[in-house]
Amino acid sequence: MVEAPEAVPEERRWKLADFDIGKPLGRGKFGNVYLAREKRSKYVVALKVLFKNQLQQSQVEHQLRREIEIQSHLRHPNILRLYGYFYDQNRVYLILEYAAKGELYKELQRCKVFSEKRAATYIASLARALMYCHEKHVIHRDIKPENLLIGMKGELKIADFGWSVHTFNRRRTMCGTLDYLPPEMVENKEHDASVDVWSLGVLCYEFLFGTPPFEAQKLSDTYRRIVRVDLKFPIKPVISTAAKDLICQLLCKDSSQRLPLKELLAHPWITANADPSGIYAGCGGASA
Ligand code: AMP
Repeated sequence: MVEAPEAVPEERRWKLADFDIGKPLGRGKFGNVYLAREKRSKYVVALKVLFKNQLQQSQVEHQLRREIEIQSHLRHPNILRLYGYFYDQNRVYLILEYAAKGELYKELQRCKVFSEKRAATYIASLARALMYCHEKHVIHRDIKPENLLIGMKGELKIADFGWSVHTFNRRRTMCGTLDYLPPEMVENKEHDASVDVWSLGVLCYEFLFGTPPFEAQKLSDTYRRIVRVDLKFPIKPVISTAAKDLICQLLCKDSSQRLPLKELLAHPWITANADPSGIYAGCGGASA
């Protein structure tokens, strides 16, 4: 468990001087992420540096607290570990697992679409990670390529818990990016863990066809397409009937009719295509 810095005696608290700082890994909305190495153990991590004034200005401190609280308690091979955090006068530092192969978003941009084997391997590993979250009463609510990183072996890591909630009730907050939101969330109705099942359907479609299914020029049109579940499969690329069947079973307007994650893992398209190791080894090469 990650202890709050103030609960730890000062000599044992993490501080910036405990780390050698390496190359920048990326830039986020509220700060930057650096490759870093803990000096004593030589353990390599990603250090996310957030500026307090920017967090305050955007009124997201509560969201960050929730993200830390939730992510630090999760232990799963497909969920990015949060090892700890500390702060100084102006900044908050998150000590994160380093995802050596970077952003899935960029991989998808580079490849345009993924093969059915790669898509199924990723969807199955995300389904396992989300089952684990849901068992712990955590719903992610913002599954999309931008929030997924790729680990050293090519395994997917859910990275951003900024919109996640710890819940025992049905929720009613609008959050996340419109393209991945289910009808009940865009219509501001109550929602539950099945929102993550819908997002897996959107993601699976995007992996195979290269764009999310309800994409439109105007937000209002995306909204309308989601609410009507205006789902169309392009003729190209040619995708198996089994993949389309799975997508249809995830993208159901009635959330109670969406395929449970356990059944997703037993779906013929997943069993025929997903690598049981959850690792897509071809990542970084020319293949998709
Ligand atoms: P974020 O502020 O979380 O959006 O992070 C900004 C960028 O830093 C991301 O888009 C990634 O390219 C990179 N990044 C963030 N966290 C990690 C990590 N744990 N391992 C590797 N790269 C990361």
